[in-house]
Amino acid sequence: MEKINNYNKKVIIKNENNEILFSTNDVQSIYLYPLSLKDYILNINSKKPILLNIIKYDKKINYDIFLRNEYFNNLKCVELLVDDNYDIITNIINYLYDNNILITLNIKNINKIPDLFLIKNINKVIYIKIFWNYYNIKLFEQKLAIIEEYKTPKLSILIKSYLNINKINSYEKYINLFRKWGVDIYQLSKKLLPYNVNNVKVDKQIIEKIRFLEKKYDHFFISVKNLEDYYYPKFRLDNRNSKVCFACYLKPYLYKKDIIACKVEEILLNKSKWQVSNFDKCGKNCSDCASIYENDMLSLIKSKIKNVKISVEIIKE
Ligand code: SF4
Repeated sequence: MEKINNYNKKVIIKNENNEILFSTNDVQSIYLYPLSLKDYILNINSKKPILLNIIKYDKKINYDIFLRNEYFNNLKCVELLVDDNYDIITNIINYLYDNNILITLNIKNINKIPDLFLIKNINKVIYIKIFWNYYNIKLFEQKLAIIEEYKTPKLSILIKSYLNINKINSYEKYINLFRKWGVDIYQLSKKLLPYNVNNVKVDKQIIEKIRFLEKKYDHFFISVKNLEDYYYPKFRLDNRNSKVCFACYLKPYLYKKDIIACKVEEILLNKSKWQVSNFDKCGKNCSDCASIYENDMLSLIKSKIKNVKISVEIIKE
């Protein structure tokens, strides 16, 4: 758990004279894991990615050659969305592992994944994010048992579900099962507000129950800050935001052979406008952004450090 959670940690930026230019406790460690705010700060002026999210595979691409391009020279981590392209994903994992690039798997339905894929690959992976939609828990247990058997001590496992008010009396049971099965964190999140749907209030007793479980299973079971409403509103940008995008350079997405800025709907629907050659336009006219934290934090940091040489420390308070 300590691997993912950076509770009570602080980032400090100093200049060459050891003077503190900036410090913050807002490190958002789970969200950035296995990288950290430090990795982003040290690459603040870079146009090359430190994290690549692969969200769509293409049988025609030879990824060994594709990922050798100098554009990927700064790559520290690749997150792979696991769909049924198991051979392609296994080849990419082998390439990344041989080149000391951290590997994260993003799994939407682990029950569908062949055991052999997990057995062959799990020892090379540092982080797995598993979405659990309350589907067949027996099979889910079997898949987690395979992961437990073949993982290395470096692996962190996060399970994420969306709040389901009908499951409120089962959450404590799930928490205890997941702890027994080697999971590091169970995160109860919320769905994004669908179009043409009005948000609804969550019953006070449900909120209290979730807050109670968060306290009881501190650092293992986490939920979101705002449980008042059932859905997340869209992450709307307004005048308080920096309107500068660092995320498109530092953590872009690979959709087949296209490097795109991010995967918010307006970009996925119009990929050609949002490819790497247009990244200078990113942020200026975006309305709905999921990388507000990095963009605003790095924009603030850039204004504090100007262009001086810096060192970055993460300390535990
Ligand atoms: S929505 Fe815009 S600002 Fe946010 S990550 Fe995507 S390109 Fe950048």
